[in-house]
Amino acid sequence: MHKILIIEDEPNIRELVLYNLAQNGYEGIAAEDGLQGISMARSEKPDLILLDIMLPGKNGHDICKELRAEGNKTPIIMLTAKNEEIDKVLGLEFGADDYMSKPFSTRELVARIKAVMRRYGSNAENEANTAGTAQQVIKIDGLVINIDSREAKLDGKPLELTLKEFDLLKVLAENQGRVMTRDQLLDKVWGFEYFGETRTVDVHVRYLRKKLGDDDKEGKYIQTVRGIGYKMA
Ligand code: CA
Repeated sequence: MHKILIIEDEPNIRELVLYNLAQNGYEGIAAEDGLQGISMARSEKPDLILLDIMLPGKNGHDICKELRAEGNKTPIIMLTAKNEEIDKVLGLEFGADDYMSKPFSTRELVARIKAVMRRYGSNAENEANTAGTAQQVIKIDGLVINIDSREAKLDGKPLELTLKEFDLLKVLAENQGRVMTRDQLLDKVWGFEYFGETRTVDVHVRYLRKKLGDDDKEGKYIQTVRGIGYKMA
């Protein structure tokens, strides 16, 4: 059974989410403030974290940033208040995998959890399916992407990529030389539940480039095709 940690100081939301997690076959655990939250994220090793931003003790951005800095790759869905547009972007830049605006419907939340779990869990399934067969590896200059183990290396050094950054890199690499529009990337990496949030693509490309040592305008690996999208050189 998948374990999901919710870090949220509003008791009503916490209880509503815990109830719905249980209804959908998840083991829900909860933290009421940021300090308890980050400590549970480390000790309980949840499969996914639902993370509020405005929290007593330690805010959601700092929690996300600290966990990622420690190499913790647990998928994180940020819970943001409706008018926190900047927070959405910051949340993603700090290594969150997704966000939901409050108030959200519990049905939508569960759908989003399932989508993130599917992407995250597909690794184990893929390994089972391809057991005994050669590993699928894409090489582009100094960049080596192992699709099965979801590992990427640049000049022999492992790249620390978030779930979405890896998926984005994979899609671009699989379509090397072909221009991918922002909408195509959004659809392939984030799924159809997103509508036109192409800024999400730009933010992730920017961070991916930084990790690849690419310049923001003239990338060696990821090139901007003006007015259209991106392509892997
Ligand atoms: Ca709060």
